[in-house]
Amino acid sequence: MLDRYGYATHEVLNQPPPLADYDAYETDQNLRAIVRAFGAGWAGPKLAQAGRTVGGAHVQLLARQANRHIPELRTHDRFGNRVDQIEFHPAWHELMTLAMGQEVHSLAWTERRPGAQVARAALSYLWNEGENGIMCPILMTYASIPTLRTNPDLAREWEPKVLSTRYDPRQTRAADKTGVTVGMAMTEKQGGSDLRQTQSVAERDGGGWRIVGHKWFFSVPHSDIFIALARTERGVSCFLVPGWLPDRSRNRIMIQRLKDKAGNKSNASSEVEFRGAYARLIGEEGHGIREAISMGHLTRLECALSSAGIMRLAVAQAAHHASHRRAFQRTLIDQPMMTNVIADLHLEATAAAWLAFRVAAALDGEGNESERLLNRIGAPIAKYWICKRVVSLVHEALECHGGNGFIEDHLMARLYREAPLNGIWEGSGNVMALDVLRSMAREPDSVPALLTEIAAAKGQDPRLDAAIRDIESDLSDLSRHEGQARRLVERLATLLCASLLVRHAPHEVADAYVASRVEGPWTGAYGTLPRGAETGKIARMALAV
Ligand SMILES: Cc1cc2nc3c(=O)[nH]c(=O)nc-3n(C[C@H](O)[C@H](O)[C@H](O)COP(=O)(O)OP(=O)(O)OC[C@H]3O[C@@H](n4cnc5c(N)ncnc54)[C@H](O)[C@@H]3O)c2cc1C
Repeated sequence: MLDRYGYATHEVLNQPPPLADYDAYETDQNLRAIVRAFGAGWAGPKLAQAGRTVGGAHVQLLARQANRHIPELRTHDRFGNRVDQIEFHPAWHELMTLAMGQEVHSLAWTERRPGAQVARAALSYLWNEGENGIMCPILMTYASIPTLRTNPDLAREWEPKVLSTRYDPRQTRAADKTGVTVGMAMTEKQGGSDLRQTQSVAERDGGGWRIVGHKWFFSVPHSDIFIALARTERGVSCFLVPGWLPDRSRNRIMIQRLKDKAGNKSNASSEVEFRGAYARLIGEEGHGIREAISMGHLTRLECALSSAGIMRLAVAQAAHHASHRRAFQRTLIDQPMMTNVIADLHLEATAAAWLAFRVAAALDGEGNESERLLNRIGAPIAKYWICKRVVSLVHEALECHGGNGFIEDHLMARLYREAPLNGIWEGSGNVMALDVLRSMAREPDSVPALLTEIAAAKGQDPRLDAAIRDIESDLSDLSRHEGQARRLVERLATLLCASLLVRHAPHEVADAYVASRVEGPWTGAYGTLPRGAETGKIARMALAV
């Protein structure tokens, strides 16, 4: 169309339609296979509902708004009273209402049937395709239940509200609310990985305690309760700290400022001072790190699931773009190198999902010792590996979009800023690798539990069989050298992924994964699948159709 000066401008050609209003569950063949394989098929209707919600244009809009209009700290009201409140764009609260209404934080604890952990994990995976910032309060709320249950009085008092699916945005005492969220107060300036350095001090005050100290990272500071660490005369101990007191006053938690973060913009993370904050002891005095780690174990697995969800979204977006965009007379997805890139990205996302969900499925094996051990060693392996791989995967998926991927209008830019975070919080990469070594040293039976799971694929692919023989003989040497821990964890992760794919995934996927990650020399860069890999077929599996 010509304008009045006779120029044709802005005729939009060769731009893909947005990937929106699709069903993120129905179109994810891999997730559906995982859900069936690990006994959570009964949750299909809930997952379909979540899939439609997170794939919907409305949630995409809410996520964009919540990340553009970021939370603000309001320390005082207009009369000068200290209030320590966080103001959010309404989109944040709507997202929280939707996700908690779909039981993302609660299903594993309320649905007492096999596969409940996997079903909830699938909700979490899907919601990470919706909006990542809200998943911080949701994962902490989910993971708090076992810690609360160590103290039956606290569990009786808090569990019904923690498991409630009626999100309540009000920042006031919990007794007046329909549902609550839980935060964690561990990290201090002098050390986040080494929690033995905790300096905050707790002193008895009647039947409760008072905490004085600071927390350098304190996300969701408007939470209703916090699981906090502070030192007593018996050592670092674990406490429950309410955000508000029964008389409706704010507990003595003073928010100093909100963190100006690289990503995770929609979520509020802060620095706080506890100035005599009222608290109640959880578990045994002096054993707080044990309690914190039991919660951290679940949140770590959650980081792996979250990164797997981000991977799926990034690959679906890249495949969608490449299947609509043409360059040099061909659709991008059919340009041989791009075909290889998209196929390779799909392999990685597929493997990540199987790995994270296999470890989550072990949580469903209550009372089964080998499943407990597999979960124990598998959670840090999955967190280490998937949270490393998500960063380069999102980068590559962004690049598939060309310049559009780098522009804030497009969600790839947001994912790019989000991707490194799961690798940091709840224990950074080195700390995860050390945790794998610790699990091997303290619970040596976790090693055979893991190797048995890997070896379940024996006899199906000679290249994998050879690698399994190698790791069995290398293991004791590698695990003796702390400096080699990343190499060890990387090998265990790729072998476990290969084993799961050989047993469960389409043949083309398993074959290409083994050929690239197990058999061949592998640089880790995407788009380097060897000749013979059925890249055309695999790349089309990435499409959300
Ligand atoms: C956005 C955001 C929100 C957060 N929210 C919360 C929250 O709500 N509550 C909370 O308690 N914390 C929170 N954290 C803190 C987070 O858990 C810590 O940042 C993390 O555990 C690392 O601790 P650190 O920052 O003190 O780094 P450090 O402990 O100083 O670690 C720095 C580096 O050293 C490595 N390292 C540590 N020990 C060893 C070792 N022995 N050998 C080799 N390498 C080692 C680590 O892997 C890391 O790479 C948040 C962090 C971020 C970024």
